[in-house]
Amino acid sequence: MLVSATEMLNKARDGHYAVGQFNINNLEWTKAILQTAQEMNSPVILGVSAGAGKYMTGYKTVSAMVQSMIEDLKITVPVALHLDHGTYEDAQACIAAGFSSIMFDGSHYAIEENIAKTTELVALAHSKGISIEAEVGSIGGEEDGVIGAGEIADPAECKKIADLGIDFLAAGIGNIHGKYPANWKGLDFEALDKIHQATNGIPLVLHGGTGIPADMIKKAISLGVSKINVNTECQLAFAEATRKYVEAGKDLEGKGFDPRKLLAPGVEAIKATVKEKMELFGSVNKA
Ligand SMILES: [Zn+2]
Repeated sequence: MLVSATEMLNKARDGHYAVGQFNINNLEWTKAILQTAQEMNSPVILGVSAGAGKYMTGYKTVSAMVQSMIEDLKITVPVALHLDHGTYEDAQACIAAGFSSIMFDGSHYAIEENIAKTTELVALAHSKGISIEAEVGSIGGEEDGVIGAGEIADPAECKKIADLGIDFLAAGIGNIHGKYPANWKGLDFEALDKIHQATNGIPLVLHGGTGIPADMIKKAISLGVSKINVNTECQLAFAEATRKYVEAGKDLEGKGFDPRKLLAPGVEAIKATVKEKMELFGSVNKA
């Protein structure tokens, strides 16, 4: 069932595990993630970036697809449909389209502007029972053409944003989107601990979950991270499986060109990735 992400993340914080946010790109992605969540009896967050929303023709299409799929597949685990890194306008459009959760990324604004816009969106989201994530300190790497420098968030600024009544907070701690470079210094746990201490137990969000070693993920969870975003890893798994299928010439055998056959190995690869992450994050059987 479609729910806001607040309750599932508060439970994750109290139970010392994390819920995965897996970004969706199309029907196959959505189906693979929902079926795996049901199979694992795990809560799940479907992330939609503005670019992916546009690709799927708009937020209304995404919302209708997800809500119908939950019904048709008889998905009973808690599912949140969440806008990932939204602008002020995206956030309003997703609230209107029936999303159950939004992220307003005002990290590139000066802190006062971030506070003003976040305050307004908290009131709007909460008036409709929708959860809201905000961000302090931009996450490194590239997301939809926006390059973040990988800042370490200031705990005092994190407190200011957390105090606005947001439901969970994304704070930069050296994490980046996409693949991590070979010379990456790792997560800054000292910064994470300070942010956790300063923000009164609000569930924290770790963006850029692809390629962070398992021991760092576990340590981050122990220091207050309750939501971990995974995007690139599913894309890499899908691409690799699809490439193998084509390289093996399977699309040329019989009806191997049928999209339902051509896309099947990629879908299985997404399922395996999501399953592995749910096990690592500890969300299995927490629905
Ligand atoms: Zn992100």
